[in-house]
Amino acid sequence: MKLLFLGPPGAGKGTQAKMVAEKFNLMHIAPGDIFRQEVREGTELGRLVEGIMAEGRLVPDDVTTQIIEKRINSPEAANGFVLDGFPRNVAQAEALAQILGARNDGLDLVINLEVPEEELLERARTRRVCSACGKPYNIKLDPPKTEGKCDVCGETLITRQDDNEETVKQRLKIYHEVTEPLFEYYNRDGIVISINGCGDLDSVFQRIVQSLEEKGLSGKR
Ligand code: AMP
Repeated sequence: MKLLFLGPPGAGKGTQAKMVAEKFNLMHIAPGDIFRQEVREGTELGRLVEGIMAEGRLVPDDVTTQIIEKRINSPEAANGFVLDGFPRNVAQAEALAQILGARNDGLDLVINLEVPEEELLERARTRRVCSACGKPYNIKLDPPKTEGKCDVCGETLITRQDDNEETVKQRLKIYHEVTEPLFEYYNRDGIVISINGCGDLDSVFQRIVQSLEEKGLSGKR
């Protein structure tokens, strides 16, 4: 199964993409997570992308595409993958089509997570991530067991540098300008489905799993 999650920043793509990857034994591939890890580790790539991310701009296509290509073609992705945050513009979509086309392959489904803009801003205000492992929380809807601490590794939760209101607005602007045209791009293949991304995590997840079943992609008919 080869899936792509599309949707504005804060729609819950990361959380849902990880849940789907785990359920169906797929590789979760998220450039945002990869870049944040590189920033935490202070690598050369981390230093290159830190300022770009803090301003809500996109990392250059060639850098991002190279990183994603390596993962898509890795043994961990042999059973399939869930792309979360790539492609983010038409040039990246074309690069992905080439990478997959080289092995006679293509995406099975594009999942559009729909959330109204007001709620996206509220979610960014209430989102926290673990400073060590990057696990995301929502302090209202999905709080950690101990306030301010990660359930998994116990480290301190922080606000993402790009979750301040100004940067979120910039990320939304880029989403509307360069990512939204991807719906038209993938609609030509008739592989886009829209899912209501509002409500609790499990309800949204059930909607996604049901859609995969209806499409005959879950291994269950
Ligand atoms: P995300 O975690 O998906 O919200 O991504 C956080 C940030 O990482 C974005 O605002 C960009 O700066 C960068 N980023 C993530 N995915 C991409 C991509 N496909 N192309 C370029 N930059 C990206």
